[in-house]
Amino acid sequence: MSQALILDQKLYSQVQTERKITHEILLMIQTMDILQSYRKLGYYSLFDYLVRRFGYSEGAANRRISAARLLRQVPEIAPQIQEGKLNLSQLAQAQTAINQQEKKTRKKISREKKKEALASLIGKNSFETKKSLIQDFENFIPPKPRVIPTKNKKVQVHLEFDESDWTKIQSLLSHMSHKVPDKKVESALLYWASEIEKKKLATQVKQETRLEKIEASRCQMQDIQDKNKAENKLIAKETVNSNEQRISPPLRRQSKTTRKSISSKVRHLLLRKANFQCQYISPMTGKKCDSHSFLDIDHITPLALGGTNEEKNLRILCRAHNHLLAKQMHLSSTF
Ligand SMILES: [Zn+2]
Repeated sequence: MSQALILDQKLYSQVQTERKITHEILLMIQTMDILQSYRKLGYYSLFDYLVRRFGYSEGAANRRISAARLLRQVPEIAPQIQEGKLNLSQLAQAQTAINQQEKKTRKKISREKKKEALASLIGKNSFETKKSLIQDFENFIPPKPRVIPTKNKKVQVHLEFDESDWTKIQSLLSHMSHKVPDKKVESALLYWASEIEKKKLATQVKQETRLEKIEASRCQMQDIQDKNKAENKLIAKETVNSNEQRISPPLRRQSKTTRKSISSKVRHLLLRKANFQCQYISPMTGKKCDSHSFLDIDHITPLALGGTNEEKNLRILCRAHNHLLAKQMHLSSTF
């Protein structure tokens, strides 16, 4: 047998194995997605997990997530994936087309319709796949690269508007020619960005001044309360057989103080201390979460279980890990 044929047979067998493994990987991603187990490992999303843990490119991670979700909805396509009749790129595009169609029409597409649409993609190349999906789902807009890096540290951005929206934008640009003389969309965007930045700064300064005033009046109130407390103690000492009654009101007040919401100043301090990043560390892997979005304050010991608003009981968590810990707390309290 010639060397070319031997190589071909080896390669054929390896590609078959690769396809079977691809299918198995999709099933595992699917389970990870359903159970959200990536959160316990220190990742805030399935996408973050696939990119950071396995080094998949953003596109490759997205393709696998879309394909795994579609495979869950239409499990009958498993043999086509294993045999290489449907590839990841086709599945990801089909999932995008289905999502776009459902979003636009606000109607769920039936499993039968999805199955039919996928069956018509078998053996098709990229161009034919797009064509078929456009025919099956009239609202499908095939993805295009929107941001392309160009020379001299510049980027090229592709924007797409409905014709009616574009007419509105042009009319807006002509009305603001005194602010944006060249009437270009990019100049207008930069102008609005600087205006928003100015407003944000002004609000921040206003808020800081307000916080300082609140803090000053809070200190004054604290002084008055301390003075009252001292007077109460004095009266309590002098009055026999009424100790319990006199001690209980300050205790009730303390409980109220514990439950009051955390001030925005403390919130900002905690965020700054956490470097505006989720502080969850997986007990299983020791990995710290990388999320910088949807951050909120979490009570390490919940208020309901006697926790306080003291700084040592507070930490910053992203939404995913807030939910995970709340779920774990709920489970442990039910058993
Ligand atoms: Zn997190």
